[in-house]
Amino acid sequence: EGGARTVGLTKVYGTGDTAVRALNGVTVEFPAERFTAVVGPSGAGKTTLLHCAAGLDTPTSGKVYVGGTELGALPDRALTRLRRERVGLVFRSDNLVPAMTVADNITLPLTLAGRRPDRVWHDLVVRVLGLGNRLRHRSERLSGGQAQRVALARALVTRPRIVFADEPAGDLDSRTGAEMLTFLRRAVDDLGQTVAMATHDPVAAARADTVVFLADGRVADVMHRPTVADVL
Ligand code: ADP
Ligand code: ADP
Repeated sequence: EGGARTVGLTKVYGTGDTAVRALNGVTVEFPAERFTAVVGPSGAGKTTLLHCAAGLDTPTSGKVYVGGTELGALPDRALTRLRRERVGLVFRSDNLVPAMTVADNITLPLTLAGRRPDRVWHDLVVRVLGLGNRLRHRSERLSGGQAQRVALARALVTRPRIVFADEPAGDLDSRTGAEMLTFLRRAVDDLGQTVAMATHDPVAAARADTVVFLADGRVADVMHRPTVADVL
């Protein structure tokens, strides 16, 4: 069972007068083998939602399910294992290790877990993302777009239940950003993966199968098969 969902997720940062309610009863579905975009202005709660759904942050209340498993019910070690093996992350701060080759960066999550790659899956990911002739390159010599593609390959290599991507095209020029969206689509269409992306960019959001609109920590709307005009 793939995908993920949240039920009545609330997240409050801080206490008392300075408390910030970043999420306020957010119920969203990230269906298996679909590309879902979470859009909304800065401060809407997109990053907080992705962090909670990925098990990187603990909600104040509500539930998160990844592949049918409720994260809140897991002991710490099981949560760590689920995060490592069942969740892929592509965040802007997610830097590659510059001195390492592309090949070693891609397999890093497996190395850290003491596992060997599933060769067939690994080679398929590399081929679908067009990285086959760059495996021996040192990562510090990659362009921004190539580096982000390697980060996506690294997120996919464990064959996770879901990949979370926070502004995956945020640091890229528009052409390279559009290309990154194409590779996220390929992860879904050609590899059968599940992708959840946060973005403030309507053009990026329109590449998704479903768009969830967040505003002030609430789901304002959900739209299937959106056009750019729908998302504006
Ligand atoms: P978005 O990703 O849509 O820009 P965020 O999830 O980053 O939204 O932030 C939602 C709200 O929560 C904002 O008001 C932000 O300032 C606040 N916030 C986010 N992270 C923290 C934090 N660690 N401590 C306090 N407030 C935070
Ligand atoms: P985004 O661009 O997604 O809104 P930011 O650059 O605002 O993210 O936030 C980067 C980091 O700072 C995140 O880990 C977020 O949780 C944290 N953060 C955001 N707002 C606040 C805040 N008001 N107080 C403390 N930490 C915050």
